[in-house]
Amino acid sequence: MSDDIHLTPSKTEHEIDRLRAAVDLSTVELTHLTSQSTKGSLESASGIFGVHLLILENSSLVPNIEAEIRERHVNAEWAVRTIARAFAERQQAVPDPHLSEKYLDVADVAERLLRALGAEGTHDEIETGAVFVVSEMMPSRLLEIAKGHPAAVISEHGGWTSHSSILARELNLPVVTGVRNIERVVSDGDTVIVDGIHGQIIVRPNTESMTHYRALAKGQILAPHLPDADNLPLRTIDGHEIMIRANVDLPNIYEVAARCGARGVGLYRSEVILSQFRGFPSETEQAALYRRIAEAAGGDGVRIRTFDISVEQLDPSASRERNPSMGLRSIRLSLTDPAHFRTQIRAILRAAHQQNVDIVLPLISGVFEVRRLREIIEEERSDLKNDGIPIGDPRIGAMIEVPSAVMTVNEIVRHVDFLCLGTNDLVQYLLAVDRDNETVADWYQTLHPAVLRAIKEVIAAGNTAGKSVTICGETAGSAFYVPLLIGLGARELSMNVNSIPQIRKLISGITVSEATELVRSIENYETADEIEQALRCHYLTKWPQLFPPGLLSAKYPQ
Ligand code: PEP
Ligand code: MG
Repeated sequence: MSDDIHLTPSKTEHEIDRLRAAVDLSTVELTHLTSQSTKGSLESASGIFGVHLLILENSSLVPNIEAEIRERHVNAEWAVRTIARAFAERQQAVPDPHLSEKYLDVADVAERLLRALGAEGTHDEIETGAVFVVSEMMPSRLLEIAKGHPAAVISEHGGWTSHSSILARELNLPVVTGVRNIERVVSDGDTVIVDGIHGQIIVRPNTESMTHYRALAKGQILAPHLPDADNLPLRTIDGHEIMIRANVDLPNIYEVAARCGARGVGLYRSEVILSQFRGFPSETEQAALYRRIAEAAGGDGVRIRTFDISVEQLDPSASRERNPSMGLRSIRLSLTDPAHFRTQIRAILRAAHQQNVDIVLPLISGVFEVRRLREIIEEERSDLKNDGIPIGDPRIGAMIEVPSAVMTVNEIVRHVDFLCLGTNDLVQYLLAVDRDNETVADWYQTLHPAVLRAIKEVIAAGNTAGKSVTICGETAGSAFYVPLLIGLGARELSMNVNSIPQIRKLISGITVSEATELVRSIENYETADEIEQALRCHYLTKWPQLFPPGLLSAKYPQ
C-alpha cells in the first residue's frame, strides 16, 4: 500500500490492526535488543533501546498515531510519518541538546515502526566496508549500522562531544558529523573517503588521495588494536607516573580497559541505568548494579557519578524548559526533589561495603551545593547504620565543569576528597557554546586561552589541597590534547577504552618537563588557532612518531 491514501471509514480498523501488529513486533525487537545489550555489549546500547521501549509503550506517540488514522482516515504509514514529524517539529523548536536527542529517539522509533509495517525503502542493507550516509546520526541507528561493519558514517548533524560521537568512538567507527547537504553531493556507488581525524570527507577522490589515505588507514587500523598493557605503572620518560582510568558503565567493558592498562573506573555515568530499567531501579537493584562494577574494578575502584539528568528525563510530563542545559537538571534536581538522590546514595553506600566505591557530584556550581549534598549523604549513612545495614565509606568528589566552580575551586576542594574535571561541559559553559550544535562547532574551542587557564587553576587547586584531579572529558582520551593536559599539571586521565593504548604510548614517549615548557611557551598566545599551530609545530618536530597517522595535519584536532 502506498502512502497518502485516504481510506473509507470501514477500512480504518484494518489500518489500526496493522499499526498494533507493528507496535507489537517493535516491542519484541526492542525488548530483545535491551536484554542482549545489558548482557554483553556497550551499556550505551541498552540505554538507548530502553528509552525506545519507553517511548513506544508509555508516551503519547502510539495513541496519537492511532487517533490520526481514526480521525483522518489515512493509512498507518502516513499516520506514523505525520505524527513523528509533528513531534520532531515541536522538539526542534526548542534549542536544547537534551530535547533534541529526544527528538532523534522518537524519529528512531518511527523508523522502526515503518520497517515493521513493511514500508519499502526504510531498512537499508549495510554492506561491509560501505560508507553510510545519514541526515541525523541517531544513537540506536548507529548501533544497528555498526553491526553491518561499515567503513564509516557521515551525518549532517552533531558535534564532537555529542552522545552519538562519544558512542562512535566507543564503537571504533570513523564518523564525520556536521556535513551539510551531504545527500545532495553523494550518490549510491560513489567512492568516498571519510577522514574522521580531520573531520572531512572527499567525494570521488583522485588516485593520489586514495593512495595517501590507504597508507594512513593502514597505520590507523594497526595502531589501536587494544594490546594488553604490562602491569607496571605508566610513566613519562622523566619518571612521572600518570594514572589512566576508564569511562565505562559495564563490568565486561571495564575488564577490557583494565587489560589495556586502566586503573579503575574514573567515570561511571549512572544515568544509563535509568533506561536499562525503564525508570528508576529500586535501592536494592541499584546496589547490585553498583556492586557489580565495583567488583570488576576491584581495588582500583569505581567513581559513580550521581544522576546527571534533565527534569524531562525525570518526569516526561514536566513542562518544557526554555533553556534546559542551564535549567533544573543534574545536582539541582537532586536538591529540589531529593527522593531519587537519597535512594541512589543509599544504594551506593551499600555497594561500597568492602568495595572501593566513590561518589561524584555533577554540575556543582558552588560550595553551598556540596554542603547540602554532604548533609543528605550523612543522613542516609546514619539511617542505614541505625538499621544495621552494612555500608562502606565512599569518598566524595565534585565534577568541576561550570565556570563558577572553577572560580571557587579553592573553596570547593576543602569540602570534597577529589575533583573530576569535566572538559566537555566546561568548554560548553565557559564559552557559552552548545556542545551538540554543529552550527557553532567553530566556537567550541577546547584550546581557547580561557579554557586552558581554567584547567590550570583547577589542577593547581587540587595540588595545593593535596587532592587528586582527574580529567574525564573527551580531551583526556585525545592525543592532541594529552601533552597539553600533562603540561598543565594533569596526572590522572579518565577515558574511553579505545583511546587507552594510543594515550599510553604517547605518555611513555614524552617528558613532563618538555610538556611543561610547551605550556609555558603558549601562555601568551591570544587565540585557540595560534595555540593549535604552536602545539602542532612542537609535536611535528619533537614527537611525530607518538601520534596516530594524520592527526597532526588536522585543522580542529579531535
Ligand atoms: C564532561 O562534561 O566533561 C563529562 C565528563 O561529563 P558528560 O560528558 O557526561 O557531561
Ligand atoms: Mg558533564
